Amino acid sequence: MTAAPTSSTDAAFLADFHHVASIGATDNNGVDRQALTPEDKATRDWMRDWAARNGFDLRIDAIGNMFACLQLVPESSDTTGTPTAPYVLIGSHLDSQPLGGRFDGAYGVIAALFAALRVKESLAESGQVPEFNLAVVNWFNEEGGRFAPSIMGSSVYAGLFDLEEMLAVEDLEGTSVAEALKTIGYAGTDTPPEAISYAEIHIEQGRILEREATDIGVVEASWYTQKLDIDVLGEQSHTGATAMADRHDALVAASKVVLAVAEVVNDFEDEALVSSVGQHVVEPNSPIVVPRRVHMVADLRSSDPAIVTAARDRLRSQIAEIARDHDITIDVADFDLRDKRHFPETGVELAEKSAANEGLSIRRLETMAGHDSVAMNHRVPAVMMFVPSVDGVSHCEREFTTDEDMVRGLRVLTNVATELVGGELGEDRNGEVWVGRSVAEVLVGSPAIAEGATVSASNARVDP
Ligand SMILES: [Zn+2]
Repeated sequence: MTAAPTSSTDAAFLADFHHVASIGATDNNGVDRQALTPEDKATRDWMRDWAARNGFDLRIDAIGNMFACLQLVPESSDTTGTPTAPYVLIGSHLDSQPLGGRFDGAYGVIAALFAALRVKESLAESGQVPEFNLAVVNWFNEEGGRFAPSIMGSSVYAGLFDLEEMLAVEDLEGTSVAEALKTIGYAGTDTPPEAISYAEIHIEQGRILEREATDIGVVEASWYTQKLDIDVLGEQSHTGATAMADRHDALVAASKVVLAVAEVVNDFEDEALVSSVGQHVVEPNSPIVVPRRVHMVADLRSSDPAIVTAARDRLRSQIAEIARDHDITIDVADFDLRDKRHFPETGVELAEKSAANEGLSIRRLETMAGHDSVAMNHRVPAVMMFVPSVDGVSHCEREFTTDEDMVRGLRVLTNVATELVGGELGEDRNGEVWVGRSVAEVLVGSPAIAEGATVSASNARVDP
């Protein structure tokens, strides 16, 4: 038995959004839907049923990305019935962080489903035939909490990650992506639709839009980022029997490194640089042993690559000083350098026009976080938009965006999708693989980064 199709009203959109927020709901209004868990499966099943109810053709690819496809160009089929006109993809991700928020990702997928429904309805009304087909995508494992690295499904689709390598990635229990996909019934065999362009709407996860009372943000570029792998090597000894003068305590030195990473931002203008030590492992981690080793990873991000380089140089010299003071070894290695990447100007202007047509205010901004759109912008022209986040908080249960802001974003996304299927940004691709604009050439000339750096070949990693 098939249920009736969904109405495309704001009320129907909000009802579906709040229904999906009840899947994997936590005690304090968040959700816990890590990739390929039973909760993720339940959300996927909801999208599959929604697509079937509303006449979308669902395809699931080998990494578990879900595409709800609408063939809008009627004559564009080959002899097997497969549409030959490429697809505009719109979407985001339905998975969440552990104890995550209910808006991050899910808002973008559900808004995309309703935007697609509205595009289909208005084309049926006007009788116009667009240039491209349209598909809504739920990208696999954007969050990377259970299976690292993050932004996995879109990066495989964009050709940045190897499919087989990603299928072999295991969680902490030793379950591989391939096994987990099979367990929940989402190990797909379909050929994914070929993209011509991509658009995504997401919560801002910062407070610029709220502070300035602006309705919509459009992303011009993603920040330059790099990580530092820091290995503090002291000497293990008895916490009681060792004289203080004889200790080479790795944790004491590591603590000073953590503070240096936090304080390096003070050398620059407010908010020009963000830094953190997100991972910190103490060995042997016994209450009666002076720690012999602390391994940690620091993360530096800025809009300006030169600021990251300057902060990194300052930290390296401070860390060398800390090592001398404590008479221990601290190894530091650069890794995971990621270019500042620009989104196409034509797409930014399209978002601005789409918001203006709705009487909404819009401003340009940059994203410090990675997103599926950052991966997709490597392959096709991408448009990335934000709606306001209350208090700018995200990746926690307190994450919140108002119904009014979600509905405004849906209207803008619908306008953008309408223009994209009508041919906008299609010419930017010109049959070539889209490479975006990056500042790689600037960085290649930077001796500070080149020396001792372990730069990944593609510079293509993106973390949320
Ligand atoms: Zn997200």
